[in-house]
Amino acid sequence: MITAQDVKDCALEMGADLVGISSMDRWEGAPKQMDARYIAPDAKSMIVMGFRIPRGTLRGIEEGTFYVSYASMGYAAINHVLQPMVLWRVTALIEDAGYEAVPIPNNFPWCNTDGSGQDLSRIGVHNPAFSMPVSPDKPAPDVFVSMRIAAFMAGLGEIGWSKMFISPKFGPRQRLAMILTDAPLEPDPIYDGPPLCDRCMECARECTGGAIPTDPNDSIRITVAGHELEWANINYVDCSRYFCGASEEYNPFMVTKADQEGFQQPVSQGQRYKVGPTYDYGRALEGAKGCIRACMIHLEEQGKLGNSFDRPFRRRPEWKLAWPRE
Ligand code: SF4
Repeated sequence: MITAQDVKDCALEMGADLVGISSMDRWEGAPKQMDARYIAPDAKSMIVMGFRIPRGTLRGIEEGTFYVSYASMGYAAINHVLQPMVLWRVTALIEDAGYEAVPIPNNFPWCNTDGSGQDLSRIGVHNPAFSMPVSPDKPAPDVFVSMRIAAFMAGLGEIGWSKMFISPKFGPRQRLAMILTDAPLEPDPIYDGPPLCDRCMECARECTGGAIPTDPNDSIRITVAGHELEWANINYVDCSRYFCGASEEYNPFMVTKADQEGFQQPVSQGQRYKVGPTYDYGRALEGAKGCIRACMIHLEEQGKLGNSFDRPFRRRPEWKLAWPRE
C-alpha cells in the first residue's frame, strides 16, 4: 500500500519543490495525440512535480554580465539532471510498492506533433511523415503531453496569459515533470486559490520578440476538467527565435552583422549559433525577459508569491543595446 502522502514526501525529499496528483479522467476531451492515458492505459494517477528555477540564475542576465547560470542551472540541468534523478527515485518507491510507474521528464526530442510552427491546426495532430501508429486505435508515437496542463490538473496552479505555468509559490519560475502510475492515489483538487495572473500584460510588453499579443481577445481557450483556460495566442516562431537571442537590443553576444544573421536564423538552424550548449541546451539567451522576469516582478510586487525575497529582483536601471553597435 502506498499513499499520496508517501509519494509527495519522497518527491520533496528527493528534490522536487512542488508536487500534486491528478486522476486520469481529467484528460477527458484531450486530443488523442496529447492524451496521457494512451501512454499508460492502466494508469490511475498522474503525479506532477515542479522544480524551481532559482531566481539567482536570472541575475547575470538581468545585469547583462553572466549568461551560463540560467542556461545551465536554471534551464537545461533542471530538465536533464535534476528531474531524471528525482523521477527515478519516486518511480522506485512506487515500483517497490508493487505498482508500475512511467517517469516523464520535460524533454520531448522525438515529439510527433508539430507544435513548432504557427499553424495551430497542426498542434495535437501527428506528422505521418515522421512516424505511424502501431494500430488504428492508437495515436502515433510519441504522445505529446502538455506539462502545463498536467500541472493544472494536479492542482499546482494556473496557466497565465503568457502560457507559462504560474504557481502560488514561484510564479512562472518552475519546470515540470510527471509520473503516470497504476497506483490509486488520492487526487488533489484543481487550484482555486487567489487568481495569480491579472492580465497586466507585462509579459507581452517585455517579451523581446513581441511574441505575446496584448489584445485580450487574441487568445486560445480550452476546457480542462470542466474549467475554462485561456492564454495568449503566442507566436511560437518568434518565441523560438527570440528566446535564443534574436534581439539586437538584448543579446550582447550579437556583435557583428554575421552574428545578427546567425542569431536570427530559424531556430532549427541557428539555435546554437556562436554559443555552445550547456547540459546539451545552452541557448536561452533572452533570460525569459517577459514571460518569467517581468511576470515574476509583477507577482512579487503584489506579494502573491510564497517564495519571497528581502530585495526586489530589479534593482538597477534596465540595460538596452543600440544597433548597429558603436
Ligand atoms: S506578466 Fe501579467 S499578464 Fe503576463 S502571465 Fe504574468 S501576471 Fe499574467
